[in-house]
Amino acid sequence: MAERTIRLFGDPVLRSVCDPIRVGDPRAAQLVDDLIETVQIPGRAGLAANQIGVGLRAFSYNIDGEIGYVINPVLAEVRGEVELVDEGCLSVPGFYFPRQRHPWARVTGVDLDGNPIEVQGEGLMAQALQHEVDHLDGHLYIEELEPATKKEAMRLIRMAPWY
Ligand code: ZN
Repeated sequence: MAERTIRLFGDPVLRSVCDPIRVGDPRAAQLVDDLIETVQIPGRAGLAANQIGVGLRAFSYNIDGEIGYVINPVLAEVRGEVELVDEGCLSVPGFYFPRQRHPWARVTGVDLDGNPIEVQGEGLMAQALQHEVDHLDGHLYIEELEPATKKEAMRLIRMAPWY
């Protein structure tokens, strides 16, 4: 197990569509270990594989003390009208911007043995599930900000010391 370095906005791996993981893929167990180890640091809510430089479909989460992972996640269901919520991302450190998310979400996928699993929740869990699936499709949350917010966000990000 190892805590991995987080890739930052501008790294092409964050724009890549991640590949499905086959059951028995020898890379999967190590990837899940690294995702869990890296997300369990206090203040972290979710982590997608491409954020640690691996182009495979898996993410981990750490919400209200509940830590877990999903392989080959699919956003199976969302409920409720979208609402503006403040959002942040480990790959865009130091910033939070409001964007629209559904207040409830359910993700389906598999565990390391290929058994079906699902994770669902409201609030921060719902937000994290939507956010992480977007990552695996090569999307960052700042892409979907309202136009004026996005313009200001990009201005601030370009001034960030890490950019
Ligand atoms: Zn993120």
